[in-house]
Amino acid sequence: MKGKVLIVGGGAMGTCIAMQVASRCDPLRDPVILIEKGRLGSGSSGRAGAIVHQSYSDREVAGMARDAVRLYHDIQSTTGRSLGLRRTGVLTVVDASDGEALAQMDKDLEMQLSIGIKVRRVDSAEIRQLCPGIEIADDTVGRFEAEGGYVNPAKAIKTFGVLARGRGATTRLGVQDLDIKVENGKVRGVHTSEGFFETPNVVLATGSWTATILKKMGVDLPLSVVRSEECVLDMPKGQAGDDHLSEFDGPVADIETRFKQDPLELMPVPHPVLLDLSSGFHAHCEPHTNQTRVGRSGHSAFRMVNDLANLDKQASPEFLDWAFEILGKRMPIYKDMGVSGSLAHYTAVSSDHRPIVGPVTGIEGLFMVVGFSGSDFHLAPSIGEGMAQMILGEPVSAFTPEFFSATRFES
Ligand SMILES: Cc1cc2nc3c(=O)[nH]c(=O)nc-3n(C[C@H](O)[C@H](O)[C@H](O)COP(=O)(O)OP(=O)(O)OC[C@H]3O[C@@H](n4cnc5c(N)ncnc54)[C@H](O)[C@@H]3O)c2cc1C
Repeated sequence: MKGKVLIVGGGAMGTCIAMQVASRCDPLRDPVILIEKGRLGSGSSGRAGAIVHQSYSDREVAGMARDAVRLYHDIQSTTGRSLGLRRTGVLTVVDASDGEALAQMDKDLEMQLSIGIKVRRVDSAEIRQLCPGIEIADDTVGRFEAEGGYVNPAKAIKTFGVLARGRGATTRLGVQDLDIKVENGKVRGVHTSEGFFETPNVVLATGSWTATILKKMGVDLPLSVVRSEECVLDMPKGQAGDDHLSEFDGPVADIETRFKQDPLELMPVPHPVLLDLSSGFHAHCEPHTNQTRVGRSGHSAFRMVNDLANLDKQASPEFLDWAFEILGKRMPIYKDMGVSGSLAHYTAVSSDHRPIVGPVTGIEGLFMVVGFSGSDFHLAPSIGEGMAQMILGEPVSAFTPEFFSATRFES
């Protein structure tokens, strides 16, 4: 099989790149192919909380997150296909005693406002209004972005895949044994369990597996694989409009919107997505599963992993105890809720915690998108657009290539 561009990996990044490249290529003259060793979303994307927020300190990434919020909305309204977007709002809280975090939040807020992010500083009275039942001191402050929320990752990836195929891309699942063929410093194609794919452009959107693939080709980048865990609790009843819930009992996740409002948009939640900078956790409610997910925030939460072959997909008992206790302290309503499950998955991080996106130095036609840590699912539409521009030789407007380039590690 021949293609103009071959994308390896069917997570959020791979499917978004396929969607964006395919929309710029003639499917007969310049075919676009995506290969995936499992099924779409079988990597960390399928397990992500997929919180959509703009609370970044980096101006570059905050700008991409701002655009992503709009892109998610536009994809739903222009294609009629659901991403399971739920705009619950995102509330960040910081204790006044936490001087460093408070100063950082205020600095970030100033930058975020300057680039057009719709966000505001909130005091304890407004926090209590936005998040009924929250336990905070009177001098606690926060930031609130009404446009934020989350997408349903399985649904979003399915939609990206459908849109990619609708624009002429081919997706091949269960394709194993990747071996990239390079001749005279140029990509010629890839050998796989399903035969040879001839192509001058390969994009590695292979998440945690990328460092191993690159190493085999003699490319060593400062990437580590880390484990990230989440605790799943029963969701408390919504504060308003509980009768919506019975209306949407059943197969909400399978509804195609076809230009009607996604029912997920209407389901009430007891509180917005909560990012607690002082206690170091994030929590969000998923009314379509009646569950609340809690994770540890920040890079210190990561646990290094060496063995990618035996991935334990459940959180540790220690983590579950910590999550239950810390959430219950901030939101006492959860003290009555049971822990109903857990999940863990694996993700790649770079040594400076910034994604590595762009060409692989020294191998013409080889590109990578990797190192999205534990919180960058929602950047996928911007990454997809920028990569399509880059591969096809257009000016890159979706992000600043130098910011993500691997050349920053070359001395
Ligand atoms: C528990 C958890 C919670 C998270 N929560 C959030 C959140 O709330 N918000 C957020 O923004 N981000 C979150 N993230 C991070 C987010 O999941 C990742 O940043 C993002 O999904 C990475 O997408 P990806 O497409 O690069 O990788 P992946 O989703 O891992 O996709 C890589 C794909 O490549 C395939 N592949 C690998 N090697 C090969 C090969 N040789 N041949 C063919 N296919 C191959 C894999 O099977 C996989 O499907 C979370 C992550 C975890 C683990």
